[in-house]
Amino acid sequence: MDRIFIPRLLKAPQQQEQFAFAETLADLETLTPVRGEMAIAHRQTYLEVTAQAETIVTLTCDRCLQHYNTRLTVDRTELIWLQSNLGEDLPAEREVSLEDLDESLDPHGYFEPETWLYEQFCLEMPLRKVCDPQRCPGAETNPDDATPQIDARWAKLADLKQQLSS
Ligand SMILES: [Zn+2]
Repeated sequence: MDRIFIPRLLKAPQQQEQFAFAETLADLETLTPVRGEMAIAHRQTYLEVTAQAETIVTLTCDRCLQHYNTRLTVDRTELIWLQSNLGEDLPAEREVSLEDLDESLDPHGYFEPETWLYEQFCLEMPLRKVCDPQRCPGAETNPDDATPQIDARWAKLADLKQQLSS
């Protein structure tokens, strides 16, 4: 995926570039190529980046340590503020509020689609990796998903409460 020179977008039809891709990302180990499409639009004061993409990754189960495959999907629009000097006052007539803008880029610089996409996939990674909640062989030895485990201290407190009330 080639990086995009931001001023170039202004000369493009509708000030945007769209492309489809099916490729491996340098920093993301995937079983299948990352497939999808992306649009980067120049909105004068910000970039609007939209992507739908998916891939299959091999993860290691937290419970049984087996490898398993899972699909990751990205479907996201992000607004990236274009500003070379972040200390400057914001234009009064801006159309979007700052809360909508997660990041900022130099308006005379480059946008890196691959890095951006990599970050989106990282956000999609499951925090708790379990191969199969029903069939994971590690499930018997670690049943804390089925029955909520009560902290030992709380159990003692519950006992005490019982004693006091009887
Ligand atoms: Zn497992």
